[in-house]
Amino acid sequence: MPLRSSRTSLHQIGEFGLIRSLRRHFGRTGPSVLRGIGDDAAVIRPPANRLLLLSTDLLAEGIHFDLATATFEDIGYKAAAANLSDIAAMGGVPQHLLVAVAIPASCGSSEIKRLYRGLMRACRLYGVELVGGDTSASRLGLFIGVTVTGFAKPGQLLTRDGAHTGDLLYVTGTLGDSLAGLNILRTRVRAKGVAGDGQHKRYLRYLIERHLRPTPRLEEGQLLATHHLATAAIDLSDGLSGDLAHVCEESGVGAEIEIGALPLSPACRSYAAAHRLDPVHLALTGGEDYELLFTVSPGNRAKLDQLTQRARCRFSCIGTIRPKGFGLRVKHRNGSSRRLTIASYQHFRSQRVTPREAEWSR
Ligand code: ADP
Ligand code: MG
Repeated sequence: MPLRSSRTSLHQIGEFGLIRSLRRHFGRTGPSVLRGIGDDAAVIRPPANRLLLLSTDLLAEGIHFDLATATFEDIGYKAAAANLSDIAAMGGVPQHLLVAVAIPASCGSSEIKRLYRGLMRACRLYGVELVGGDTSASRLGLFIGVTVTGFAKPGQLLTRDGAHTGDLLYVTGTLGDSLAGLNILRTRVRAKGVAGDGQHKRYLRYLIERHLRPTPRLEEGQLLATHHLATAAIDLSDGLSGDLAHVCEESGVGAEIEIGALPLSPACRSYAAAHRLDPVHLALTGGEDYELLFTVSPGNRAKLDQLTQRARCRFSCIGTIRPKGFGLRVKHRNGSSRRLTIASYQHFRSQRVTPREAEWSR
């Protein structure tokens, strides 16, 4: 599609100039890519006996990201990380990226290159190659469509539908950090503004980083897949309560979460305490942590514990899979139990920031 933009540099170089420049800077590929950027379609030689995984995400300015609280690099990085997280949740090894952008007149080629720099920074960490995309003008803000491919061995897929009654429920990492980071960003103009070295500043920077630069749990997903440790898995993009509901629905089971077992970072606890928020609420409803939620049959617990001892991130057992009729419930430390409210946090929906929040974020 032709690109029309009033911004001088894109106007000057045009759609094809931009594509040439993206190809030159970011389009280098290895031997398995027979054709990358430059032909009508990318051509890949897949290894023998691998399943092909495909996943795509569309990000719209003002809905999924906000240029007031994230840089172009941040947006690119997160767009890649969120897609890679889907491959992680399937137990796959990510391979290729295709990026479609619709660019408003307010963006020039340098902004688009910064976006790609962020995308490719995340990709390089995981050996993923940019092999194509599409470019258009936009009259309504910036749109970024990211497609990722991955490979998995047959018989080593993680899916949402394999959880059984009695399985243990696990998560990687900590929960609620991304939502806390988003709330902080909303009370500040830019992440870069958090200077200083005190504990409080370190917590602020950590939470913002967890929101803007999430870690796709690829090693962890591949570990679960190659050792056949998980009966079901999903990545936490919508929030624990909503994503657990997806696993339970697909698997035809219920679940019970132990409130006391939810992994919370010191930064998240501190943020919650300062705002008189319940950190458990952040953990249950906060989206975009991109941790893995997975189920393990009790007979595999010892093996999992042993294999994850030296893992880079934490693995926490947070509950148990129950029969479907049990529904979704949470158990408190005192033994009382209540139904789980499915309240997946939807990022970038309008949300009020209290004066206390503004104060803590300074
Ligand atoms: P066509 O018109 O046949 O779709 P394009 O001119 O859109 O071809 O694209 C030419 C080549 O550049 C293709 O290989 C395509 O994958 C790649 N490409 C186009 N836009 C982008 C982009 N934004 N990022 C990466 N590759 C791109
Ligand atoms: Mg095209």
